[in-house]
Amino acid sequence: MSVISPAVDATQNSGNPPSVKTFGPSNPFYAPSTLPFEAPPFDRIKDEDFQPAIEAGMAQQEAEIEGIANNPEAPTFENTIVAIEKSGQLLERVMAVFSAITSANTNPDLQHLQTIEAPKLAAHDDFIYLNSKLFSRIATVYQQRASLQLDGESLRLVERYYEKFVHAGAELSETDKSELKKLNEEASTLSTAFSNKLLAADKEAAYLTTERAALAGLPEARVSAATQAAKSRKTEGFVIPLQNTTQQPDLVYLSNRATRQAIFERSWNRAERRDANDTRDIVARLAQLRAQKAKLLGFPNFAAWKIKDQMARTPEAALQFMDAIVPAATARAAREGQDNEAVIDSQHGGFQLQPWDWKYYSEQVRKARYNLDEAQIKEYFELDNVLQNGVFYAATQLYGITFKERHDLPTYEPEVRVFEVFDAGGKHLALFYCDYFKRDNKRGGAWMTAFVEQSRLRNHLPVVSNVLNVPKPAEGEPALVSFTDVITIFHEFGHALHGMFSEAEYPLLAGTSTARDFVEFPSQFNEHWALYPSIFANYAKHYQTGAPMPEDLATRIRKAETFNKGYDMTELLAAAELDMQWHLLAPSTPLLKPDEFEAQALEKTHLKISYVPPRYRTTYFNHIWSGDDYAAGYYAYLWTQMLADDAYQWFIDNGGLTRANGDRFRHMILSRGNTQDLGKAYEAWRGAPPSTKAMLKYRGLDESAFSK
Ligand SMILES: [Zn+2]
Repeated sequence: MSVISPAVDATQNSGNPPSVKTFGPSNPFYAPSTLPFEAPPFDRIKDEDFQPAIEAGMAQQEAEIEGIANNPEAPTFENTIVAIEKSGQLLERVMAVFSAITSANTNPDLQHLQTIEAPKLAAHDDFIYLNSKLFSRIATVYQQRASLQLDGESLRLVERYYEKFVHAGAELSETDKSELKKLNEEASTLSTAFSNKLLAADKEAAYLTTERAALAGLPEARVSAATQAAKSRKTEGFVIPLQNTTQQPDLVYLSNRATRQAIFERSWNRAERRDANDTRDIVARLAQLRAQKAKLLGFPNFAAWKIKDQMARTPEAALQFMDAIVPAATARAAREGQDNEAVIDSQHGGFQLQPWDWKYYSEQVRKARYNLDEAQIKEYFELDNVLQNGVFYAATQLYGITFKERHDLPTYEPEVRVFEVFDAGGKHLALFYCDYFKRDNKRGGAWMTAFVEQSRLRNHLPVVSNVLNVPKPAEGEPALVSFTDVITIFHEFGHALHGMFSEAEYPLLAGTSTARDFVEFPSQFNEHWALYPSIFANYAKHYQTGAPMPEDLATRIRKAETFNKGYDMTELLAAAELDMQWHLLAPSTPLLKPDEFEAQALEKTHLKISYVPPRYRTTYFNHIWSGDDYAAGYYAYLWTQMLADDAYQWFIDNGGLTRANGDRFRHMILSRGNTQDLGKAYEAWRGAPPSTKAMLKYRGLDESAFSK
């Protein structure tokens, strides 16, 4: 085993910043795209177009903001709030594409550019949110809001702007504001450095072997993929690239325990190898900076500041919610661990269950209990079929929308596909892009992004994209995916629907621009349809024969759904608690040693369990360090599981998959974005506040699941 050479490939550029050109009509971002839906003109966009467009975009918005702030007329809703909503269109146009490309298709030049622009963009945000003249106009409109006779969405817009500005520090003294700006700039620089180091660390920590025997148990298709991965890195043998999570998918197959351990350890230690990609110093400093920022803004810790405008409102509410699930989840994981140990003992393994053994033995328990064979199952999940006859089909049944692939629109990679989405009456609704295969220049995980955010004010229909990291099949092989990948495709499409159904007037409130602990609700809710009988039957078909999945196998997959849920829930809780503990630090906390702190944090929250490591470790927890969107917000995945399961239960109790149910959900939840109070909207739709009852049932954690 040897170390893969670092991130810069011979085939890529050397990492020089793109030369700064002047900004003019030849720049593809200069004017709105003339393509349908104002789709990005990827065929015209070159790396060197980004920087001039970003810089011009910032300058343009700064001029617009100055104009609003210095307007001699008295502040009104139109000349202040709506004017802000209309500002920054060039910047938004370029940043939507820039963020998408630097996540899904990056290169050293673009990474370098990110490093240059990140602190400038942070300063740009501060220019807006810490602008006292602008804030005083917003505050005036806010104070008059009751007498302005605004419609509900406009009223919410005023409130959101006021709260956002206060949240960002608009009420601080000038001295504190400049201190805050410094903290924001340093944090943003560190976050970019974190992402770039992690991408390199992920790549470098790939497992490499020249011994075919080390891969015993790995299916042929995976072996060819490993050979291909080695070839593309111009190295001999076999390469297994790392996924972003602690656990690695191929550990399910690998019978060689030393290989499993080696892969696991490469994953676990990927970003703390005392080399250029070690992220520990960055993490320690970021945690400190965030705590200091919270203090400046008048909060005891970063989590309290961050969660204030979320559905949970306080860290205590989020902690209470998690603490209440920990005993059931860990007890269930312990039982699953015993099942795994029983298999080890029955095979005279003579060792104790370790995290690198978990997937391998739990797969055997699963096979014995449900007689499920991953390789056999995959034959029924061919990617395109899953997409069109599963994901799209479900959306057609529920919401009446239809899809047509378009080959005339440019993409940033040939393997990206584009579909036009039509509403029930045939009306143009949206464009949907999908970029499903793993590439070395794509960050790990799966996500949804918008190239164009819906807004009636701007006359914009949504253009959204889903990005995944499905293992790419070897040349000429079909793309057969795991059931986990099927669920991920449904999940990301749930986000896409949230974006595509948006009917907001104002971009600030459109689509997925909701609280963190709400935004994963539509996506996790959409996962449920993957197993809904009439939908499953429509896509789970053999890739060669087209034969439906045998009923018996389908039943066993359904039954197996609650299998290993103790582990799944515990690893999520561990990551979520880790995130929360890092962001509950007092401002006076000295620089911490991430490994020690991590161990203590897990201990304290009763989640230090040797065989269930956190889903992400501190040093590669991209969600919380690559920006602060998910910082003190990872709990949101669990919180929204509660909402998703509770919502699905409503469908089941009310006739299941029907257009009427779908339309009601679309109308009251999905199309509303952030235009209404999320808690109240949920209650109005559900007829009750959310409860964890359905979650415990669907996740196999309730009493009845325990007794079986
Ligand atoms: Zn999601």
